[in-house]
Amino acid sequence: MSIAETQTGPPAWRLLLTYVRPHRRALFAGAVLSLVTGATGLLLPLVARELIDDLAHDRAIAGALLAMSGLVVANAALGAVGSYVLARTAESVVLGARRSLSSYLLRLRIAAVDRTEPGDLMARITSDTTLLREVTTDSLVGFGTGGLTLLATVVMMGLVDPVLLGVTLAVILGAGTVLGLIVPRISRASRQAQDAVGVMGAALERTLGALRTVKASGAEPREERTLHEAAEESWRQSIRAAKWSAAAGNTAGLAMQIAFITVLAVGGARVATDAIDIGTLVAFLLYVFYLMSPIQEVVGAITRYQTGSAALARIQEALRLPAEPPARPAELPAPGVRPAALAFRDVRFRYADDLPYVHHGVTFDVPAQGMTAFVGPSGAGKTTVFSLIERFYEPESGDITLDGRSLVDWELAELRAAIGYVEQDAPVLSGSLRDNLLLGNAEADEDTLAGVLKTSRLDGLVARLPHGLDTLVGHRGTKLSGGERQRVAIARALLRRPRLLLLDEATSQLDAVNEAALRDTVADVARTTTVLVVAHRLSTVTTADRIVVMDAGRVRAVGTHRELVTSDPLYAELAATQFLATGG
Ligand code: ADP
Ligand code: MG
Repeated sequence: MSIAETQTGPPAWRLLLTYVRPHRRALFAGAVLSLVTGATGLLLPLVARELIDDLAHDRAIAGALLAMSGLVVANAALGAVGSYVLARTAESVVLGARRSLSSYLLRLRIAAVDRTEPGDLMARITSDTTLLREVTTDSLVGFGTGGLTLLATVVMMGLVDPVLLGVTLAVILGAGTVLGLIVPRISRASRQAQDAVGVMGAALERTLGALRTVKASGAEPREERTLHEAAEESWRQSIRAAKWSAAAGNTAGLAMQIAFITVLAVGGARVATDAIDIGTLVAFLLYVFYLMSPIQEVVGAITRYQTGSAALARIQEALRLPAEPPARPAELPAPGVRPAALAFRDVRFRYADDLPYVHHGVTFDVPAQGMTAFVGPSGAGKTTVFSLIERFYEPESGDITLDGRSLVDWELAELRAAIGYVEQDAPVLSGSLRDNLLLGNAEADEDTLAGVLKTSRLDGLVARLPHGLDTLVGHRGTKLSGGERQRVAIARALLRRPRLLLLDEATSQLDAVNEAALRDTVADVARTTTVLVVAHRLSTVTTADRIVVMDAGRVRAVGTHRELVTSDPLYAELAATQFLATGG
């Protein structure tokens, strides 16, 4: 399912208004400046008429020339200030949209992220928001100022000669009809062009996220083709939009030329019959000339709005993805706070309505304190247990409780503050080692940090690195080995002083010495914290207080290693093969 398919809702301009509202004063000031600029321009024909009159009657023209120069300079100065104020406001609108979108995307439910392409979401924040700049200045302001200038010019024309105004309006009306046919095509093509940018973002993310695999598989030509196709599709749609925009702009231009010629002909005839004098005709023609700019402005506003509304619609779609409610940041548990008790009661869960159940009524109890291990074949649903505890997903039925309180009754931030979670693939973020460690607890002091480095067996590594904790680890920690990444992830979780520690195959990539050391660390932690571990190597869980054996979304058996070896055939088999493999 794509993002677009889940959406219906209010029109795009409503969203635009929410972004523009905080800047309405600056926008208004910029618009007024533009209008005043336009008005000074509007006075020029009147001064010109004076000038021609003065010439015709052999009067001095110095006064009229001076007035004209003053107007031209004022026009330029006001225009510059106005442009700056508007551009600044437009950038602020873009900033506001980017901020609100970024905040929103951080709150997205994991289930929503599962069915979207991060690259496409990224394009919505970076590329689509950029288009709001033009919508704000060119569309909103352009429509306002252009429209008002147009109205003022038309009024002035009516004052100069109503007959010639009628002629002009007839021509404009004809052009408007043609524009009505063109404009929807701009909007459609723009939407497709922006969608293609999203597709390109997704393709880029996919390729760059696995560049090593792409290279090792010799798949560069295929990835290159995908990327080029996405880029070309955006190009195709953009030039389609450009074609229709150009048609719209030139329709307006052509209409003005026709108006000019028609006014010249009709006006000439009126001068010949003495209905108007030559000065009036010249003034009117100048107004027709001046009409050009506000008409272009209004047509530009309409065409730009088509592009902008396509971008707005894409932003709006992202804002309608299911998200978690905003939460105030929760305090981490104070040192020495008691460990948490956990229970699953008949939990049924599937990742989506069209996917099979992953948990078919999972039930188990974990008392506060001690180590509980989850074992079972891959795909049994062990990682899913942890995802449900973190409330990355909600069970379809059944109940999960922490300290006897249903997870849904916990404030989300408070729940997550109680938990330390080391994910299966030990994610490390780009940045320094220190950034990574402090991610879960920004307030940890140097002593605490040093202590955790020691217990997670990272102290040796940090001592070896030239920049110690400030060493950069590369994108997704690529400058670290798998085992090092796992230890960073464990240290990060321990720094949170969790009441419940979740370790998902957290030591799978460690060498025997480090693994044994960390087993002791975890056993130590389990004296004051509730620890849940998923482990493939049974050697790491034989000492657990209890072992939950899972298979195909069900709990088969619960017991200690000793009990299970005799009572559960699946566990006995796992134990037999593994001890064989390790020679134990
Ligand atoms: P385990 O950790 O025991 O190996 P998991 O809990 O990771 O098993 O996965 C259980 C099942 O759920 C698997 O069949 C897997 O394909 C599926 N699954 C896991 N994560 C997702 C997801 N985000 N979306 C859809 N299916 C998933
Ligand atoms: Mg797993």
